[in-house]
Amino acid sequence: MARLLIVEDEPRIASFLAKGMTAEGHQTTVAGDGIMALDLAIHGSFDLLILDIGLPGLDGFEVLRRMRDAGSELPVIVLTARDSVADTVTALEGGADDYMSKPFSFAELVARVRLRLRQASSSPPGEEVLTVGEVRLDRRTRRAIAQGKEWDLSAREFVLAEIFMTNAGQVLSREQLLEHVWGYDFDPGSNVVDVYVGYLRKKLGADAIATVRGMGYRFNR
Ligand code: CA
Repeated sequence: MARLLIVEDEPRIASFLAKGMTAEGHQTTVAGDGIMALDLAIHGSFDLLILDIGLPGLDGFEVLRRMRDAGSELPVIVLTARDSVADTVTALEGGADDYMSKPFSFAELVARVRLRLRQASSSPPGEEVLTVGEVRLDRRTRRAIAQGKEWDLSAREFVLAEIFMTNAGQVLSREQLLEHVWGYDFDPGSNVVDVYVGYLRKKLGADAIATVRGMGYRFNR
């Protein structure tokens, strides 16, 4: 059983989500405004946050930003009011782990909640600093040390760097990376993996990640 914080100001949707998630065996708490949500996210003890964007008090983006600033690593699935690419990008760059556009299928949300909870509980314990070759990745601060500098990584960059470094020397396909880092199928024609590999190369070094033609990418030992 997981403890879910559901932040949604529309009572009908909030109650639908809470009932559904309770039926799935989770314990749920509902907050209807951003200020209460932020307080609960930082001081409460939850396993996952389902966060609406349009909220009274503070909007979802602000809740996300402030809780990440306060050091919270609570997994967050954002609910965007429409299929808005700008909102999605803002949410993901702001540290959301996943998003769903309204209207969404409850079954799909349940599947994503499961996936996020599984990822959160399976993140490797111990080793707080991963070192491969000249690159160091600090899991506590989500920063990398490479090319003689310290780099801040976005949430996605960090997860991507982590899967590369824990599988250094192995070729990882775009599909494997998409599934691990983004958790579901983007548009199959999406170049999001290539774009993020590009971001990582700038920070970790151009030679850190090799392109293996027709296969994917390999982090060099
Ligand atoms: Ca709303």
